[in-house]
Amino acid sequence: MNDLLPETVDTWQGVERSAREVFGQYGYREIRFPLVEKTELYARSIGEATDIVEKEMYSFQDRNGESLTLRPEGTAGCVRAGIENGLFYNQVQRLWYAGPMFRHERPQKGRYRQFHQIGVEAYGMPGPDIDIELILLTARLWRVLGLKGLRLDLNSLGTPESRAGYRSALIDYLSMRRHELDEDSLRRLSTNPLRVLDSKNPSLRDVIEQAPELPAFLDEESRTHFAAVQSCLADAGVKFVVNPRLVRGLDYYNRTVFEWTSDRLGAQAAVCAGGRYDGLVQQLGGDDVPAVGFAIGMERLVELLRVDGEAADAHPRLHAYMVTADPSATCSAIRLAEELRGRSLRVLLHCGGGSLKSQLRRADRSGAHCAILVSKEMPVAVKMLATGTQTEMERSAVGDYLQLHCSDHGS
Ligand code: ATP
Ligand code: MG
Repeated sequence: MNDLLPETVDTWQGVERSAREVFGQYGYREIRFPLVEKTELYARSIGEATDIVEKEMYSFQDRNGESLTLRPEGTAGCVRAGIENGLFYNQVQRLWYAGPMFRHERPQKGRYRQFHQIGVEAYGMPGPDIDIELILLTARLWRVLGLKGLRLDLNSLGTPESRAGYRSALIDYLSMRRHELDEDSLRRLSTNPLRVLDSKNPSLRDVIEQAPELPAFLDEESRTHFAAVQSCLADAGVKFVVNPRLVRGLDYYNRTVFEWTSDRLGAQAAVCAGGRYDGLVQQLGGDDVPAVGFAIGMERLVELLRVDGEAADAHPRLHAYMVTADPSATCSAIRLAEELRGRSLRVLLHCGGGSLKSQLRRADRSGAHCAILVSKEMPVAVKMLATGTQTEMERSAVGDYLQLHCSDHGS
């Protein structure tokens, strides 16, 4: 679990701002749901035989003896909130959320126990058009952030029925090579064999490489759906790779699944992952509402931006750092600073006293455009910190002067 210090938070806010803008362009609206849910919500949605539910959840009993869990992901909570608030009743929904998630993973680069996701979920739309929209939306966000070189992998998981055929073919194959499987995979062979394909154990690479491929088992409708996703993405100029081994780490997916990865992140390469989950709303007690969504890993995205993004907007620069010649000018300085803030200017008022010289040194280090020197009797002096030019003026003239000379685009 990490502390995010102000310098890093500037980058985070830049990403959040861009995401909010892009999501808004596509008509998505923010939803906020709790950080804690009943444990059974996650067990029922994510799947019992998954990494998350088997070993990663922060679960605890509250004072009534009820088992609660810190949210390990956003989709389950979003669906629960949508059902409880009637959001899915006869309407489509385009939603996004952002915030911390919790998973008790082995600590390693790119994997944290509190991490942050920005997620998007779309409900009530069964066709490939919305799958395509979500992928285009992510591609646009990368462009806006100045991220290049991300790779898009696509696959279709078909329907649960068509997957049953694949499942048994996979069980046959894995049983044949069971002596090569690790403990986790052996257990999953009977409970959840597709999970074996998602294993991160390098010694299983060979077994996974040679496994039967899912696309051969797809039902007709899923094939048509997937073909439409592919042709429309190609038409829109989005490059992708069909990866028949992409299965995703959560159980609720069907049909389209996708993942954006970077080769600059080391072993934990995925920055964004998602897919269709048509059965989940009904499974959690709602109507039969088709759904599709994805989540972006903020830590990994920010790490990438550090490596090759366009420098995100720093926090807005202070217009002025205000200092006082002596304590008798304090009230007058506070009043002037308030007036200027009332005109939307950013003014840091030096507090804590000290010599004029040391106050001006702080002004220099503050990154502000200018220092304003207030004394009790005399006119106000404004010193441009880049050039050292100092101008005296009446207090009533300071606002206009700052607006003219301290713009972020000008000097
Ligand atoms: P993996 O297969 O890498 O474990 P996952 O299937 O568990 O990934 P999702 O639950 O789909 O991943 O999460 C979506 C995104 O959230 C990931 O692509 C990644 O960017 C990010 N993410 C997931 N877990 C973590 C973590 N522990 N720390 C940081 N980011 C994470
Ligand atoms: Mg995981």
